[in-house]
Amino acid sequence: MSGTIFTKIINREIPSNIIFEDEICIIIEDISPQAPLHYLAIPKKEIIGVSDLNDKDNVIISHLLLTIKKQMQSINVSDYRLVINNGSEAGQTVFHLHIHILANRTLGWPPG
Ligand code: 5GP
Repeated sequence: MSGTIFTKIINREIPSNIIFEDEICIIIEDISPQAPLHYLAIPKKEIIGVSDLNDKDNVIISHLLLTIKKQMQSINVSDYRLVINNGSEAGQTVFHLHIHILANRTLGWPPG
């Protein structure tokens, strides 16, 4: 796998609003926000989805969650929803693993 839109964003081949970046991950604003705050936390490693994780990716996944926690704390947002769509039937449209971060509105349950 190579070259989804997220790799192009990571490589600065196309623009995005970058909220945070380090050597393992990037957090960007979603281009089509579904809430007043809608970020995407994306590992720089090209992983298609949760189904494609291997045991060595535990460091990446831990890092993603802890980075999200710190980022949201830094902007004083305590309530938020994290979503991972795994596979097209579940709503995945970009086949590079990413965690949606949704906040700043009341979020219904169950999701559609
Ligand atoms: P999925 O449907 O795969 O769970 O989520 C993909 C997300 O990527 C969608 O929410 C979509 O709006 C976002 N997205 C698609 N293309 C771009 C883009 O070029 N830039 C940004 N920032 N987000 C994008």
